[in-house]
Amino acid sequence: MDIIKTENIVKDYILGKIKVRALNGIDLQIQKGEFVAIMGPSGSGKSTLMHILGCLDSPTDGTYYLDDVLVSKMPKASLAAVRNRKIGFVFQSFNLLPHLNILKNVELPLMYGGMSKRKRTAKAKEVLQNVGLGDRLKHKPGELSGGQRQRVAIARAIVNDPSILLADEPTGNLDSQSGGDILEIFTELHSQGNTVIIVTHDQAIASRAERIIKIKDGKIVDGNSNS
Ligand code: ADP
Ligand code: ADP
Repeated sequence: MDIIKTENIVKDYILGKIKVRALNGIDLQIQKGEFVAIMGPSGSGKSTLMHILGCLDSPTDGTYYLDDVLVSKMPKASLAAVRNRKIGFVFQSFNLLPHLNILKNVELPLMYGGMSKRKRTAKAKEVLQNVGLGDRLKHKPGELSGGQRQRVAIARAIVNDPSILLADEPTGNLDSQSGGDILEIFTELHSQGNTVIIVTHDQAIASRAERIIKIKDGKIVDGNSNS
């Protein structure tokens, strides 16, 4: 089953009188449970595509079905609700809230679901333990290394049991040892049945993915055959 299906996705950014076409006709199918790497030169549209797949932004044109739901024309508020339920997103720059400890950072996505405080805390602790940070619950992001912060960000992304896990250059700010640890976590999540999509320049990640999709000038130039 295709968990992601896009047809002819176009994304334009308008800057005054200048129009930048960041995506120029993306047809993409990704099956449930796949581990996909997205690669391509800087400026080719990878982040823009990830933001659309992650329901952080909408395309200018084209259709996007996520889990058989048409999300490409949804108003912002509905899109945010879909994002909260179905998407886990990991950024290169972690994007944690600096004034909250890591337990609270990971509990945040559970606030929308109406789960009790006790259950939220238990679930966040469990996920932090799974990424090896069970002994750091009260630490703030600034008191952790880059690799540890990225593990917190992964815990936050998966705490809701999302349908897909998207990561935009998750090892880009890490040394190779920490990057390797992060790759192990994604590999483990994939082996548990999760759909994992990672934008990367990292050959170690690419070699572990089941499929590499290459993007150039806002188009897919290789890798969109999953049959
Ligand atoms: P990549 O992630 O592959 O480096 P991006 O998706 O960030 O590529 O960018 C694709 C193109 O869209 C580039 O030409 C970039 O300058 C442009 N772009 C990206 N974000 C914006 C934005 N917020 N406003 C205007 N142009 C943008
Ligand atoms: P990268 O990790 O690839 O450098 P950034 O962390 O700079 O990416 O974020 C990329 C874009 O995503 C920025 O335009 C930012 O405004 C947006 N963004 C970051 N975090 C969120 C979020 N939680 N919700 C919505 N948009 C976000």
